[in-house]
Amino acid sequence: MNAALTRFIETREALRDALECEEFVLHYQPQIDLRTGRLVGVEALVRWQRPEVGLVMPGAFIDVAEESGLIVPLGRWVLVEACRQAAAWRASGWPDLVVAVNISAAQFRHARIGAEVLAVLAATGLAPAGLEVELTESILLEGREAALATVAQWQARGIQLAIDDFGTGYSSLAYLKRFAADKIKIDRSFIVGMAEDDADRAIVQAIIDLAGGLKLRTIAEGVEEASLARQLQLMGCDEAQGYLYAPPLAVAELEGWLRAREVSSVVCCKAC
Ligand code: C2E
Ligand code: MG
Ligand code: MG
Repeated sequence: MNAALTRFIETREALRDALECEEFVLHYQPQIDLRTGRLVGVEALVRWQRPEVGLVMPGAFIDVAEESGLIVPLGRWVLVEACRQAAAWRASGWPDLVVAVNISAAQFRHARIGAEVLAVLAATGLAPAGLEVELTESILLEGREAALATVAQWQARGIQLAIDDFGTGYSSLAYLKRFAADKIKIDRSFIVGMAEDDADRAIVQAIIDLAGGLKLRTIAEGVEEASLARQLQLMGCDEAQGYLYAPPLAVAELEGWLRAREVSSVVCCKAC
């Protein structure tokens, strides 16, 4: 327990310094329309460029950031940087590009998050339609009326709402109905299991059917195989994201990836 506490404190202090020294960077992972093969958006995923360590993935520090409250300034940086970058891309040849930003529970609980998101859009010049906010089911359940009000305020402006990691939380159908999200992200654990597990396939189909009935789009997370992409399309899934198309990419890499697709006019992969 002492070792765990020491590690928590060390990571928290290092994160505090990293925020001051601006050691974070965003990578962007493409999201693809399964029917047309076209890019529908990119998800911003944070990485920590830790001196003498290298690129640190969020799984190693997001929990500490959440528990220490540092997720509030870190999340603010992510939001500003992602919106700034998306506005620049939309102004320089990719006018329809949408950036999806993860907002975690502790960040969402922060009283000013509703107004903060709108202020960042105004400051960066990103049109509300260029931003998608990714929230998990638990955030929506936890916050209840206040969460409903915040999300409704965003949606009234045209910001899109995606429910991340769907199926892994409590998946309250009543809340799904009340929140009127735009998109459901089917958790990678079900997608990975689909090839061999009938139960996973049944769950994915049920989520797609449920979303269809509620007029929500579905996106499959973690698609690595062309055969899986084809199967998902036949099952009625709208979009996919995963290593089959591209891993999360640094800004210059993503721009190269986008240009290569334009020049060759090839659809994204063998599956499309
Ligand atoms: P997430 O939002 O569900 O993001 C998807 C994760 O799946 C990313 O991991 C992505 O790299 C990974 N992934 C995508 N396609 C594939 C695939 O085909 N195969 C496999 N094996 N993995 C794939 P990453 O970047 O390590 O992020 C992990 C989690 O950390 C995210 O899960 C999200 O919950 C959190 N996170 C990342 N960036 C942020 C951020 O800026 N703010 C907050 N609050 N959380 C973040
Ligand atoms: Mg996400
Ligand atoms: Mg997810």
